[in-house]
Amino acid sequence: TETLADRDPDLFAAITGELGRQREEIELIASENIVSRAVMQAQGSVLTNKYAEGYPGRRYYGGCDWVDVAENLAIDRAKQLFGCEFANVQPNSGSQANQGVYQALIQPGDTILGMSLDAGGHLTHGARPNQSGKWFNAVQYGVRKQDNQLDYDQVEALAKEHQPKLIIAGGSAIPRQIDFARMREIADMVGAYLHVDMAHFAGLVAAGEHPSPFPHAHVATTTTHKTLRGPRGGMILTNDETIAKKVNSAIFPGIQGGPLMHVIAAKAVAFGEALRPEFKTYAKQVIANAQALSDQLIKGGLDTVTHGTDTHVVLVDLRPKGVKGNATEKALGRAHITCNKNGVPFDPEKPTITSGIRLGSPAGTTRGFGEAEFRQIADWIIEVVDGLAANGEDGNAEVEAKVKAEVEALCQRFPIYSDL
Ligand code: PLP
Repeated sequence: TETLADRDPDLFAAITGELGRQREEIELIASENIVSRAVMQAQGSVLTNKYAEGYPGRRYYGGCDWVDVAENLAIDRAKQLFGCEFANVQPNSGSQANQGVYQALIQPGDTILGMSLDAGGHLTHGARPNQSGKWFNAVQYGVRKQDNQLDYDQVEALAKEHQPKLIIAGGSAIPRQIDFARMREIADMVGAYLHVDMAHFAGLVAAGEHPSPFPHAHVATTTTHKTLRGPRGGMILTNDETIAKKVNSAIFPGIQGGPLMHVIAAKAVAFGEALRPEFKTYAKQVIANAQALSDQLIKGGLDTVTHGTDTHVVLVDLRPKGVKGNATEKALGRAHITCNKNGVPFDPEKPTITSGIRLGSPAGTTRGFGEAEFRQIADWIIEVVDGLAANGEDGNAEVEAKVKAEVEALCQRFPIYSDL
């Protein structure tokens, strides 16, 4: 019966501090969101106690009746959300979902073709320090120089030259929609699997506000915590029964042991929320807000990669103002606007410095911000960036303090977790 505050005041202070930070700061990290109390309640439940190796109805442990109910709810809702036949909701993360696909469909030493990290891809798509880059012969494609859009001609040329077994579409800093049909056409030319990693935009797909990877993808993976607004975790989807069987064996016993049943329960809750009509309204607003943010930043003298967005991602090119990504991330942090430095395509700066920042609208939209608020946020970003441009890395302390006070006032008008 001892509360967390009594049992462990140090840890409790860290959680309280983080709650305060989330309440008082504007969260613009494109991969983050603000989950409902219901999702947190499921994740903080007694399901954390349960071992359930295996799958519903086929477990290696007794006492799984109730966790079977939870996992089946998650599976059924995932299938309904994405209109597909098979869902594995057990991957502990987006990275493990991708690892599960590789374990299921390819062998060490096989060739894979994915987008390079510096063009907007993810580490798990064949980047050298990642297992995907070490265990496979990873060939990487990028974006076109003239418009920073995915270079389909290069994908086709590389596919013909290297004959990959698996082609990965998707990434972490891609503001535009991907032509899944074209990617499948290329995959078919060389007999490769097409794997779409929709980690970033899955929530938009679920809401019908972004094209679905299906029927083009042989298999799709996602995280559940970004636009999908669930607990941290991953998921694998397919319409192909043979692939589904391989994927299930790859996740368990291939790469994971006991599934995180409390997280799977929270996934079920989030998928249930995403099936509601309000989620469609949310996803529409996410895109409208990102577009307003991009438009206002351009009006203020910055550029955004591809000069706009079709999604929740705005990749800001800071070069028109002559400032760097690392200094901008820090200065915005001082003003209580949270984001991450990010390379822009063909970035001349090192990844620790960068010429860009990556912004996203999912968390702000959840708290209730509309386009007016996102335009205001863009104006604040411009003010802070202008302070850096004029004064160097230290920025303009007066402007940053003024923006911070205004940010806090806005956050108070759009409170989160007020009953916690
Ligand atoms: N795939 C993409 C496209 C991502 O953006 C991410 C996360 O940033 C992942 C996979 C990995 O997800 P996780 O951080 O849950 O391992």
